[in-house]
Amino acid sequence: MNRSPSNLAGDAYPANEGLIRVTVHLAERTYSILLPGTDPNFSETPGVLARLRNKGELAFIVCDEGAKAHIPGIETAFAEQGYQVKLWILPAGEAQKALSVAEILYEALLDLKADRKTLLVALGGGVVGDLTGFVAATYLRGLDFFMVPTTLLSMVDSSVGGKTGVNLTRGKNLIGCFHQPIGVWIDPTFLTTLPDRDFRSGLAEIVKYGMIMDAEFWDRLEKEADLLLAREPFILRRVIARCCQLKARVVSEDEHELTGLRAILNYGHTFGHAFETIAGYGKWLHGEAVAAGMHCAMRLAVKRGLMDQQALKRQEALLKKFGLPTEPDSSWSSEELIDLMRADKKAAAGKLRFILPTRIGHVQFVEGIEDAEVRAALGR
Ligand code: NAD
Repeated sequence: MNRSPSNLAGDAYPANEGLIRVTVHLAERTYSILLPGTDPNFSETPGVLARLRNKGELAFIVCDEGAKAHIPGIETAFAEQGYQVKLWILPAGEAQKALSVAEILYEALLDLKADRKTLLVALGGGVVGDLTGFVAATYLRGLDFFMVPTTLLSMVDSSVGGKTGVNLTRGKNLIGCFHQPIGVWIDPTFLTTLPDRDFRSGLAEIVKYGMIMDAEFWDRLEKEADLLLAREPFILRRVIARCCQLKARVVSEDEHELTGLRAILNYGHTFGHAFETIAGYGKWLHGEAVAAGMHCAMRLAVKRGLMDQQALKRQEALLKKFGLPTEPDSSWSSEELIDLMRADKKAAAGKLRFILPTRIGHVQFVEGIEDAEVRAALGR
């Protein structure tokens, strides 16, 4: 099956200065992602953007310890728009994506007498975003939800597309639903406080976008890798915006992952999820597992004759440049990894299938892969 989004050429590479707006087209649920510009007279704020769609009195901001430094500006932005602002700070970490934590937030909302117009604001990384989105989707059958992502991964990936959810002990993201935000505010200056390892983890998803959808973007990443690593603000802004454009295009065409198009975003993820699970959640960050997963997927593509060695080397070089792992831990058993891949919620009836590149900027769904091929792709 060949998959690529239509009409990508319509989105110009984001300009250097000024406000960048990316629109996620979803009929009546269409919303904007805004990246503020450098103009000091700029009047747009997350509060202004939210007010266009939400007329409630209460803004309930959920944040975690790691993103705390960014609370004051965001609190003010909502207060200025007449919201009564209430704040809830969670400990950091994946463990917060749990039904028990969702229940604590429901109770807090009840105590605050939140009504159906109340706005929930997620200020944080993917953990805060997924959890808060899930609470927004389910409290009183659905509240408006606004996202202010603060990690690189959440800016380029988890804040776009409306996937919300929590984990069960038996697996990640097993409980959840689609609930689109009414707006997303991305301020890349928030990344100045992000630890290096979390920053690099986000770079893996950026590499993914180039490989699956956009050869020109890929070339830019290779050229601008040093500037990106140095978190050069202009480069970072444009790269984040490009990733949002690319993901928005996919989501607009296949919001609920029904046609197979949205599945291209899972490049490297079938391997990656198995690596994350076998390592024990939190030991390998999501982006680290995806990086090694993309290397294995590329190796599989080369063995199948879909790609050449040069592409494998280029991808490996870029991942290494970004300080990301390219090989799974040699102590992990191939058989256990293959079992985990078969159990992945993206596998069909236990059959292994992978998103594999056919050229830089293009991928394809490949089914009917034998276990021996997977072992070879794992580098065993
Ligand atoms: P995270 O939310 O755990 O954040 C990583 C760490 O950075 C945390 O310790 C956090 O406190 C800290 N932090 C956040 N912002 C900071 C800042 N500006 N400065 C300093 N520290 C900061 O992890 P993540 O990588 O953002 O997200 C991972 C989660 O996202 C996973 O649960 C994954 O399943 C989910 N995810 C969801 C989607 C989706 O489409 N919904 C897509 C990809 C990943």
